[in-house]
Amino acid sequence: MRVLVINSGSSSLKYQVRDTDTNEVAASGLIDRIGEGGSGPADHGEAMDQVAAVLEGELAARPLDAVGHRVVHGGERFSEPVLINNEITRAIERLNPLAPLHNPANVLGIRAITAKWPDMPQVAVFDTAFHRTLPEHAWRYAVPDALYRQYGIRRYGFHGTSHEFVTGRAAALLDVPLDEFNAVICHLGNGVSLTAIEGGASIDTSMGFTPLEGLVMGTRSGDIDPSILIFLQRQGMSADDIDKLLNRESGLKGLYGDNDMRAIVDAAAAGDARAKLALDIASYRLAKYIGGYHVAVGGAHALVFTAGIGENSADFRALVASRLGALGVKLDGGANLVRSSAPRVVSAPDSAIPVLVVPTDEEQAIAEATAAVVRGA
Ligand code: ADP
Repeated sequence: MRVLVINSGSSSLKYQVRDTDTNEVAASGLIDRIGEGGSGPADHGEAMDQVAAVLEGELAARPLDAVGHRVVHGGERFSEPVLINNEITRAIERLNPLAPLHNPANVLGIRAITAKWPDMPQVAVFDTAFHRTLPEHAWRYAVPDALYRQYGIRRYGFHGTSHEFVTGRAAALLDVPLDEFNAVICHLGNGVSLTAIEGGASIDTSMGFTPLEGLVMGTRSGDIDPSILIFLQRQGMSADDIDKLLNRESGLKGLYGDNDMRAIVDAAAAGDARAKLALDIASYRLAKYIGGYHVAVGGAHALVFTAGIGENSADFRALVASRLGALGVKLDGGANLVRSSAPRVVSAPDSAIPVLVVPTDEEQAIAEATAAVVRGA
């Protein structure tokens, strides 16, 4: 099938045309500055017109069979990809309060396609869906019940499409049946999240009510004492100030001044103390979470690295592994340095747990999920 994958943000629209039989990327691109005036498109409808114009020759040669949307928040309702209709679009819209930057943009993307190609099958693939298997003791916060009942305050988890894709590849690489596979999956990109996999399913994940919880990220703080927010509010900071501080100005950027892992590793190697501290804080917190999840899954069969940093930074992988001696984790120095787009083992033969690098591909996962839903419809 030929699937157009859409990742729609508030002012941008990323797209890829994927062939799910050959896995070929027939076209890809990004339309940005939507609604920002100047030369940018006025709205998501105009942005879709631009995409359609760019793809004209491509689509004339072979028309699309379906469109797959990355939708950030599926709340408690969506545990798998679904065929979109008006009711589904409204349900996604009702989840806007839980993802105020993302879901409204996803809905605009869906409506732009509906307006342009009314008969095109569209599928929503949710970032939260894979984590719907979390047991209640993992998704509840220790706060009064009313907060959950009234506002839906609970842990949802994100990056699910990537975690699911990588879990399947890792089990296949190790030749373990998926429903017997226990693992700790480390998605280390600009956003960072860990998932504890038991029997192929997500039983815990480090992001929570929003993607802010958990590990040290490119520009997000991850876990901090919630009293810090109250303290800052009493110092006169507004909710928006604190939002920006913790989501855009913290993490590696806050610690070092730049969130590019390559720059931080280079600076640390050249003796920069702030860069070294940033790496130590990020790798220390990650190692603690890995240890916790190893216990949560009753012993992981594999530790898996993916996304920009996980796939490409041999230095960061080595630093994390150096903190996991208690688990008997040992990397193979040579294998860890190999650069490849193939899933691979980077641990030494005598490592207690194999360590894998498995490249993620969210667009491929969305295209495949879309094709499966449309075929089954
Ligand atoms: P996003 O969450 O935006 O999709 P990515 O998965 O692309 O992010 O990851 C971005 C991160 O990957 C950045 O910190 C970047 O520095 C890092 N990265 C990309 N390539 C390399 C590389 N060759 N070596 C080290 N880090 C890399």
